[in-house]
Amino acid sequence: MASTIVFIGPPGCGKGTHAAKLSNDYDILPVSVGEYLRQEVKAKTELGVKIAYIMSRGELVSDEIAVEVVKGVCYSNREKNILLDGFPRTVKQAVLLDEFLPDYNRQVDIAVYFKVSDKEVIRRISGRRLDPLTGKIYHIEFNPPPEGVHTIQRDDDRIEVIKKRLELFYNETAPVADYYKKQKKIAEIDGEGALDEVYSRLLSAIKQYIEKTA
Ligand code: ADP
Ligand code: ADP
Repeated sequence: MASTIVFIGPPGCGKGTHAAKLSNDYDILPVSVGEYLRQEVKAKTELGVKIAYIMSRGELVSDEIAVEVVKGVCYSNREKNILLDGFPRTVKQAVLLDEFLPDYNRQVDIAVYFKVSDKEVIRRISGRRLDPLTGKIYHIEFNPPPEGVHTIQRDDDRIEVIKKRLELFYNETAPVADYYKKQKKIAEIDGEGALDEVYSRLLSAIKQYIEKTA
C-alpha cells in the first residue's frame, strides 16, 4: 500500500517548504490544495473565479471543493506515496478523507503537526515571497530568492488577512490534530528553529513511511 502523509499547521509554519524538500529527497508526491486553487484563480477558470474572493479574504473554500482536488490526485496516482500539505483543514474533511481513501487502497499513515507560535507565523508570512512561475517559496530574510528571479507577495499574506487565517486555523484546523491524536496517528513537531533542524525532526517522525529517491 502506498503511504499517505498529512501535514497540519498554521499558515506559515513551513508545510510547503518541507513538502518541497521532502519530495526532492524522497519518493513522494506533494499535494497542495492551496497551490492548486491559486493556479485555478490565475487561469480564471469557472472554479477560479468563484474562489478568488474567498481566498483573498483568508477564508476556507468549501469542504467539497477541497475534497474533489484530493480525490482527483488519488485517482491519478494510485501507486504513489502522497503528502497532503494543508489538507484536511476541517474535521469534516478528515472524516471524508477516512471514508474515501480505502477506495484508492490507502489510509492516513501519519499526520504531522508543525507547532509554531503566532509571533513566528507573522514574521514568516510577512516576508514570504512566491515565484509565480514555479510556485517556489522564498523569504526575504531567511531564504532570499536568487538574483533575477521575480517573486510576488501572495494576496492573502497581508497582515489583516493573516490574522483571519490564524483565527480559522485555531477554530477549524486545530481540532483536526485532536482527531488524529485520538487515532494515535499524530506526530507533533517543533516547527521553530533553522530549516535543517526542523527537517531532521520531520524525518525522524515519518521515516518508516518514506523511501529515498533511487
Ligand atoms: P506554509 O506552507 O505552512 O504556509 P511555508 O513553507 O510557505 O509555510 O513557509 C512560510 C515562510 O517561512 C516562507 O517564506 C519560508 O521561506 C519561511 N520558512 C519556512 N520554514 C522556516 C524556518 N524554519 N525558518 C525560517 N523561515 C522559514
Ligand atoms: P497556508 O499553508 O499558508 O495557509 P495554502 O496555500 O495551504 O496556504 O492555502 C491557501 C488558501 O487556500 C487557504 O487560505 C484557503 O483559502 C485555501 N485552502 C487550502 N487548503 C484548503 C483546504 N484543505 N480546505 C479549504 N480551503 C483550503
